[in-house]
Amino acid sequence: MIQNILDYLENSAASCPEKTAYEDLENHYTYAQALEYARRIGSALLAVLPQNAPVPVLMEKEAGTLHVFMGAVCAGCFYTLVEPEQPLERIRTILETLEAQVMVTTRSIKEQLQELEFPGKILLAEELLKHEIDEDGLAGRRRAACDTDPLYAIFTSGSTGAPKGVVVCHRSVIDFTEHFTKIFGFDRNDVIGGQAPFDFDVSVKDIYPALKVGATLEVIPKRFFSVPKKLLDFLDDRKVTSLTWAVSALCVISMLKGFRYKVPKNIRRVMFSGEVMPVKQLNYWRTYLPDVLYVNLYGPTEITCNCTYYKIDREFGEEEQIPVGEPFPNERVFLLGEEDQLVTEAGKLGEICVTGTALALGYYRNEEKTSQAFVQNPLNRCYPELMYRTGDLGRYDEKGELYYVTRKDFQIKHMGHRIELGEIEVAFQALNGIERVCCVYDEPNTKIIGFYVGEPEAKEIIQQLTERLPRFMIPNIFRKVERMPITKNGKIDRRALMAEL
Ligand code: AMP
Repeated sequence: MIQNILDYLENSAASCPEKTAYEDLENHYTYAQALEYARRIGSALLAVLPQNAPVPVLMEKEAGTLHVFMGAVCAGCFYTLVEPEQPLERIRTILETLEAQVMVTTRSIKEQLQELEFPGKILLAEELLKHEIDEDGLAGRRRAACDTDPLYAIFTSGSTGAPKGVVVCHRSVIDFTEHFTKIFGFDRNDVIGGQAPFDFDVSVKDIYPALKVGATLEVIPKRFFSVPKKLLDFLDDRKVTSLTWAVSALCVISMLKGFRYKVPKNIRRVMFSGEVMPVKQLNYWRTYLPDVLYVNLYGPTEITCNCTYYKIDREFGEEEQIPVGEPFPNERVFLLGEEDQLVTEAGKLGEICVTGTALALGYYRNEEKTSQAFVQNPLNRCYPELMYRTGDLGRYDEKGELYYVTRKDFQIKHMGHRIELGEIEVAFQALNGIERVCCVYDEPNTKIIGFYVGEPEAKEIIQQLTERLPRFMIPNIFRKVERMPITKNGKIDRRALMAEL
């Protein structure tokens, strides 16, 4: 039984040592090299850190960064990617939250970050790679490890206040990876095109499936996501077969009609998550790549990547929504109503709640927030069973398929009506000539504002929307934007939109 994700790396290094494990524009590393570098770095880290200590990694999105992640794990520690380009103040908050004794970076980033004045030890990745392997030290750390030990911490963007570090253990990632690779048929011939930044948990779905099956992970440069031609050339040249991307990243290609330039020939699987996938954009992909498996993946970082999936198995009209589907095995996903009662009837809204091995350990050094979000399952009065409240509202249809409706925070009270902004967005998105939409509520002025990318003017939109929505749901103000601002995690940036008002 797999108890430590290093088993994945070791098994692949033993069965396909010469195969490329990770690759980016400049470098590529075989499985044998990946394991060796991980062990060297791990040996260096275990000399200065106790078991289960955090290893903040201030490095770019490149293949070599993965050696440091695996090195941290070899040392019995856990890693956190800290994006070096974010504001210094946020980097400081993260390092303080972690009570980090060391940080790992590169020489050039260290020079850029002199003002950080980190009080701990700064270790350079290029030096750690040369460290001698400490066989006994590594074996000792491995013996002492448990599968409930932390593997990584991901700091959520934290819409209010300080960022929270979601800590996830080996067991949760192993459980997820086993099901994920099996259900979607990953194998050694896969070439995974990694879109997600390493401080976003979509990257977990790139890294561990690749390691488990001995596939190759192509780390795509961030800048390619604003230049579809380069992106499409990359996917085609590297013979990428599998994409697990944020919705917005897929939309970059479809909104700019990228496939007119080139259709990558090897893609066989396209999975998306993070936001509602606009059917119009999905249909564009399906027109050019009809024989591909498309999957809607749903879930927050706190339940380890995703808790439900829906394999697209039929045509969807533009006014339809795609279900979020069924729970992954070994996870329980259900809806709770306002009195914490189980909701099973079609059409009724409830908060999406999750129990099972998938639950994160909590927020690092933040008992208060942990106990607010990870609570006793109110349906179980017999023994301790933790449940995560996602803060998302969902509903079932007549066929029992689960749909994501909206964030609880996006449920508004407007002119006496309870409205889900997500529902307005689905109708709005389906209109002719509309590419992407986002609705926000300007509470002080009691106005619904509809931001959109597309051709039509407000008058025409109102005319079309009147046929689909009750009057009180039609946005009061329409704002045409050149393109949607996107957060670092690939979601529409609502705060940036509000700031434009
Ligand atoms: P994150 O923790 O950054 O992955 O964000 C998780 C949140 O993104 C969820 O709680 C949902 O609000 C939203 N989300 C994730 N996947 C989907 C999806 N397939 N459809 C709609 N919303 C999603």
